[in-house]
Amino acid sequence: MRERERERERERERERDLCIAMAIAVAYVRVLFLCFSTMSSTSSISMTMMMMAIRQAVRDLPMRQPRLRVWCGGCICRRTSTVATAGDVVAEQQDLKQDLCGNESKKVIRHGDKRGGGWDWRKQVSDANQLDMDSINEARMHILAKEAFIIDMDGVIYHGNRLLPGVAEFVAWLHSSRKRFLFLTNSSDKTPDELQRKLARLGVVVDASHFYTSAQATAAFLASQRPSGSVYVIGDPGLHQALYSAGYVMNDVNPDYVVVGETPSYSYEKIEHAVHLVLNGAKLIGTNCDKTDPSPDYPGEVIPAAGSLITPIEKAAGVNAYFVGKPNPLMMRSAVTALGSKRLHTVIIGDRMDTDILGGLEAGIDSALVLTGVTTLKDMHQFSYVPRYIIRGISDLLQ
Ligand SMILES: [Mg+2]
Repeated sequence: MRERERERERERERERDLCIAMAIAVAYVRVLFLCFSTMSSTSSISMTMMMMAIRQAVRDLPMRQPRLRVWCGGCICRRTSTVATAGDVVAEQQDLKQDLCGNESKKVIRHGDKRGGGWDWRKQVSDANQLDMDSINEARMHILAKEAFIIDMDGVIYHGNRLLPGVAEFVAWLHSSRKRFLFLTNSSDKTPDELQRKLARLGVVVDASHFYTSAQATAAFLASQRPSGSVYVIGDPGLHQALYSAGYVMNDVNPDYVVVGETPSYSYEKIEHAVHLVLNGAKLIGTNCDKTDPSPDYPGEVIPAAGSLITPIEKAAGVNAYFVGKPNPLMMRSAVTALGSKRLHTVIIGDRMDTDILGGLEAGIDSALVLTGVTTLKDMHQFSYVPRYIIRGISDLLQ
């Protein structure tokens, strides 16, 4: 009964605030109208009055309700028993009962600061070079509070044909929480449809529009540089299709660009022809600069990737290729634009310091390193930059 009375009282307060806000708005519209009507005779005085009226209107906006933002998805609202989503604004701290981990409400809400100021990644790693659980929990809260997610694929959501733990649950949470997300991959060999079907085979169903490959980023870049150009390609169907979709045609005589992506169909004849075309004016483009990819056949081993395949052409032709994929911030910004989000509200989750984390850093996007892929904690000292968060894997995000 007491809860219901409190609820009614809060409703009455909200209605009262709304009435006050409307009254203030009407009053200032009238003032503004008066200012405009007298502007022709005393324009300078009218302008001053108008500016004062606008300033006062902003000051008088009703701020009676405390504005507390939910950081952790899954917080339980006391009043309605519904689950609050990260990013929701609640009236009072007491409105939240507990988060997914059973922590008290003060752990899951923060005032205003969307970045969660004061966060220090170094606290995450204990003396034993292990991730500290409290820090993982706090990293989880900050990551889940983001509005948009850019997620690397290999090493983050799967290994070859094996889905990693927690991925299906995390994608379900993204859907249920209405988060924006994009799977971003430096691979150029597969089309978004093929990636979508691969993920469906592994048990995760998402629309093909949630995938963005380095082939798409390369095609978009070339189309912006030289619309309706021509290209000689050393790469797989995903790269060909992206270039066709961008209005490009194949040309092995006098193309505008030579584009190289990863492919098993790599030969001396193709290298020789690419060098010939570059020496005759074609510009050399790489879909990404990754030297290696994880071997699909031999766990723990690697295979040559686009960065390695393009090197002989660079050496022979005496030019440096331009790489479009991660860590180029161009691809990151394209992903943020595709998400319709802002960098401040976006996080990139990746397994490689030299591509995912560096790309996030250079694009001004918060990054979260997972330890299920290439980079390990022992590798961290090799890099002169750090991720904003470190978690053990996607499974850490929903526990
Ligand atoms: Mg990866």
